[in-house]
Amino acid sequence: MAYKIPEETTPRCLECGNLLNRYDRSDKKFCCPSCKDKYHNDRKNPSRHLIRSTTAALLKNHDILDRLWETGFRMMDTESLRRRGFDTSLVTGVRRGRSGLIYECFDYVYRLSENRIFSINRVLSVDKVENVSLNLRPVENNQFTK
Ligand SMILES: [Zn+2]
Repeated sequence: MAYKIPEETTPRCLECGNLLNRYDRSDKKFCCPSCKDKYHNDRKNPSRHLIRSTTAALLKNHDILDRLWETGFRMMDTESLRRRGFDTSLVTGVRRGRSGLIYECFDYVYRLSENRIFSINRVLSVDKVENVSLNLRPVENNQFTK
């Protein structure tokens, strides 16, 4: 049996990440005028901009994993994922499993090879959710001591 996954995911507000009304104009980027103002004011602050854009990209990855999960997919080639907007360089955690690295996107875990993500699973225990952290890259021991 074959399933077709819709190419488009539901758009989110670029500022707060809330889902946009699907009946709005297709080029709408913000949920309200306040979010639009905040977004444009924060563009002058690179740190704030980085946090916002990274969070929005992680939420998009999560939406795509949700869609795969709900339609029964437990693997997909990375090219198809990138076309849908999935960014394989962003994770909320990485840990070492018995047979390789396990990547985390909030409540989802998956493994990654050169051409695909696979062994997609959803971890919903309270312990797991409390331990979610943004370990994007190793931090040098003395990086923050100066
Ligand atoms: Zn918003």
